[in-house]
Amino acid sequence: MNYDVIIVGAGPGGIFSAYELIQSKKDLKIAVFEEGFPLEKRHCPIDGDKVKSCIKCKTCAIMNGFGGAGAFSDGKYNITNDFGGTLYEYIGKEQAIDLMKYVDEINVTHGGEGTKMYSTAGTNFKKLCLQNKLKLLDASVRHLGTDINYVVLENLYEELKNDVDFYFHSSVNKIECINNGYRIHYNHTSLDCTKCIISVGRSGSKWMETVCQDLDIPTKSNRVDIGVRVELPAVIFSDLTDELYESKIVYRTEKFEDNVRTFCMNPYGIVVNENTNGIVTVNGHSYENPEQQTENTNFALLVAKHFSEPFKDSNGYGESIARLSNMLGGGVIVQRFGDLVRGRRSTVNRIKEGLVTPTLAATPGDLSLVLPKRILDGIIEMIYALDKIAPGTANDDTLLYGVEVKFYNMEVDIDENLETKHKGLYMIGDGSGVTHSLSHASASGVYVARKIAETL
Ligand SMILES: Cc1cc2nc3c(=O)[nH]c(=O)nc-3n(C[C@H](O)[C@H](O)[C@H](O)COP(=O)(O)OP(=O)(O)OC[C@H]3O[C@@H](n4cnc5c(N)ncnc54)[C@H](O)[C@@H]3O)c2cc1C
Repeated sequence: MNYDVIIVGAGPGGIFSAYELIQSKKDLKIAVFEEGFPLEKRHCPIDGDKVKSCIKCKTCAIMNGFGGAGAFSDGKYNITNDFGGTLYEYIGKEQAIDLMKYVDEINVTHGGEGTKMYSTAGTNFKKLCLQNKLKLLDASVRHLGTDINYVVLENLYEELKNDVDFYFHSSVNKIECINNGYRIHYNHTSLDCTKCIISVGRSGSKWMETVCQDLDIPTKSNRVDIGVRVELPAVIFSDLTDELYESKIVYRTEKFEDNVRTFCMNPYGIVVNENTNGIVTVNGHSYENPEQQTENTNFALLVAKHFSEPFKDSNGYGESIARLSNMLGGGVIVQRFGDLVRGRRSTVNRIKEGLVTPTLAATPGDLSLVLPKRILDGIIEMIYALDKIAPGTANDDTLLYGVEVKFYNMEVDIDENLETKHKGLYMIGDGSGVTHSLSHASASGVYVARKIAETL
């Protein structure tokens, strides 16, 4: 065997698998394969000047490379079983929380010291939300910020690179079962290992489908979240964001009894493009450094769509809606809330005259031509509900960017060790469909590393 363990994907899942393997057994031979570049070589060409919107690079610097999809994220590290994945269903609630706390400690000692931990425990907002038909989910969140998150990743790489072989710009195209291990095919060559951890995140979802087909690993998929990103003056949400930083609030709509939820809140942040498999959607960031902060806060409002038989392609459904916005707007569309409820498109002038200055150069348009009525009605209802706990949310000038889509990977059939039916082949992180967050993905990495260290 060339390696004891090969890890595919250098996102949080892969990084913390490697980190914990080294802590458990220093003499293990470990390799990490990563389709993207090392951290310092990851540069998105959008500069707001010459390149204003996504040019669909072959390898997306935002999604691929050391640090994975989370590298330029806001670094909101949520410690909770209420959202961010269902790791607890496999390993138990207590262990899941313990592992998330363990990773948090590592982040803190690798550059995150001095960052703040926020918590919903003991806050008055729970009551205020319930009084207005909203539910505030329980969580503790450490806000690393995009800048400190980067420093933590730099430090982790410095520590890992002496004990781990990193193969960057090396997309694994096939995994083969061999005697007592696995053969990893990449760049027209191959290497063998005893144990293999696959942690390819959302960007690796299409490839994961082929791996599961080739190795006859059962999967299921039935969910996609669709919605918009809301941007408004930070002061409107400051009571909530100053105390909680990120609040996950759920609203049950009166019309359809659908759940609409807030997601990825970025106080004083910016709205950004996200490219998933060539489709441009919207996301958000914020910085810990006050010099990089803006006067706006942004967050997503998402509606979860679960499909039942015979429809199986929930991600395809989300992609089609995102493609529609790309077709109409050449990318992301932005609309004032006031224009949306009046049934008219936003124009460059209406946005310019508004009180909220957009932080993303998106095309003014009409989101009602893109989003299904049921989803749009739910979003509008929730904006009015949020207006009761944060007055001003439903102002005419509040900006809505669309579409935001959260694609879920198909759920791979794995056991309580996060191991597939092939012994020694583990699937973790967002790519397994079990996690959807930095904390759950990282915790799943630590968990399999400990399991592997016990057996090797
Ligand atoms: C803009 C943005 C902001 C976010 N903000 C937050 C946040 O604040 N808090 C939070 O909890 N979550 C956030 N997320 C989600 C979070 O980043 C992910 O949940 C997390 O990164 C998942 O980790 P992972 O290791 O499972 O996968 P990923 O981070 O996606 O890493 C997978 C890696 O595998 C590589 N790969 C894929 N296929 C192959 C292949 N065939 N061969 C080799 N390598 C391959 C990819 O290049 C990638 O680097 C954000 C995501 C984005 C895009």
